[in-house]
Amino acid sequence: MSRSAIVIGGGLAGMLAASALSQSLDQVTILERDTLADAPQPRKGLPQGHHAHVLLPSGRDAIEALIPGVSIRERLLAAGAREASLTSLITLGPEGWFRRWGHHDHLLLTASRDLLDWTVCDAVLGTPGVNLHTAQAVAPLGNAERVTGVRISAADGEEAELSADLVIDASGRGSRAVHWLGEVGIRDVPESIVDSGLVYASRLYRVPEGAETFPLTQVTANPFASELGRSANLVPIEGNRWLVSLGGTRGGEPPADAEGFVRFALGLRHPIVGQLISGAEPLSEVTRTRSTRNGRRYFEKAATWPEGFVVLGDAVATYNPVYGHGMSVAALGTQALHRELQQSGVATPGFARRVQRAVAKPVGAAWAMSTSQDRWFPGVQGSAPTVADRVLSRYTRRMTRVATSSYRVSAAMCDVTTLQEDAIRLVHPSLLLATLAGPVMPALSGPPLTADEHAMLHALDRGGNDR
Ligand SMILES: Cc1cc2nc3c(=O)[nH]c(=O)nc-3n(C[C@H](O)[C@H](O)[C@H](O)COP(=O)(O)OP(=O)(O)OC[C@H]3O[C@@H](n4cnc5c(N)ncnc54)[C@H](O)[C@@H]3O)c2cc1C
Repeated sequence: MSRSAIVIGGGLAGMLAASALSQSLDQVTILERDTLADAPQPRKGLPQGHHAHVLLPSGRDAIEALIPGVSIRERLLAAGAREASLTSLITLGPEGWFRRWGHHDHLLLTASRDLLDWTVCDAVLGTPGVNLHTAQAVAPLGNAERVTGVRISAADGEEAELSADLVIDASGRGSRAVHWLGEVGIRDVPESIVDSGLVYASRLYRVPEGAETFPLTQVTANPFASELGRSANLVPIEGNRWLVSLGGTRGGEPPADAEGFVRFALGLRHPIVGQLISGAEPLSEVTRTRSTRNGRRYFEKAATWPEGFVVLGDAVATYNPVYGHGMSVAALGTQALHRELQQSGVATPGFARRVQRAVAKPVGAAWAMSTSQDRWFPGVQGSAPTVADRVLSRYTRRMTRVATSSYRVSAAMCDVTTLQEDAIRLVHPSLLLATLAGPVMPALSGPPLTADEHAMLHALDRGGNDR
């Protein structure tokens, strides 16, 4: 019997879902309201593409597994994307500068979202059985027991109904899934928000001559210092460019003007990012966004769930982007769909419910990490830190301090923050002991730069802040 699925949204989660579904079903239709171009370029439905994105190794591996026969990583690298080890970046963390270890591990992929999404889209749309339909999904069809398709609206406003055995909502943070479920009588989907009022401001720069090898550099906010959370991320991407994203929580937002942008970066806990861009050639205006809050819909907790309906990616939860989790959680959630498709098949009773519950696992891990830190920023909206949060924060702060001078502890923390291991790893007896014992080396007084990097920074600095 021929089986079909409809995927609402042709973003990262939607494309990955289509690839997974095409391996088990006969027909997969992706509904995307934007017209997708045949080359990487900005589009309306991907406004976050103006801002710096890192792809974690867990997300990269999930993407590689979900799209068989091609290596998205290799295609991205061939197109100029960059790869860097998380334990070798230049990072000022909440507890000081991290030492750089020079290991080839915990590799982050950095590229523009336009390139990343287009590369995935190009690979998936070539898959037999996958079709792209340019239309807006209006609402799922069906009732509280079963979803049977989607009502769509074409560009000319004409509406039509498409039927399918399975409907995936991968329409991103603006998803109407909770609203639609409410209309058919499922009104018990809990929702939660933790919002530090973070504003992101980003700008593209041409990498100055001689600075081509300067690594990803970040000055992070300190959630535990009872001060506004202000940060900077300088991310090398394809086309010999730096994508620089500044962040500021409520009351400490980065400005939208060019001069203010550099000034903000120079005024952080350390001015390194401001120094690097102070003389660099900008390639874009400053773009700002407030779409940064942690917001979660606990679909897995609904007492009943319709057959034939699954929600994935940002439609389930969004996170403070500083932690770089969204794309990887979307990919890991789609792997849960893939596993369930292989184990039981789309027609088995309870299929959608099982997938939705499995999707909640990586969502929960990312959610716990970002909200347990964001809850500490002044003026945050959402629940305040609990007693457990207070105990946990003491431990993780101490461990972070130890990690600045210990590769073993730093790598263990990276295993968890990159969603490769459960957080339980951090209370392993050997890590507990290392944390209790404290740092094994004195704190660094400045960024751990090589002699070449020092020279580059000195040559680039027009901000008068060289330290
Ligand atoms: C500023 C910022 C920085 C970020 N940085 C990182 C990072 O460093 N690392 C990371 O992993 N994540 C990051 N994220 C998160 C990441 O961008 C998202 O998690 C990811 O894009 C989610 O993919 P998605 O496919 O679920 O949703 P989207 O990418 O939002 O895709 C949804 C798609 O659905 C389409 N659509 C919506 N409604 C309809 C409809 N009714 N009918 C048809 N089509 C529809 C849209 O046009 C869009 O193409 C960041 C987010 C922001 C805002």
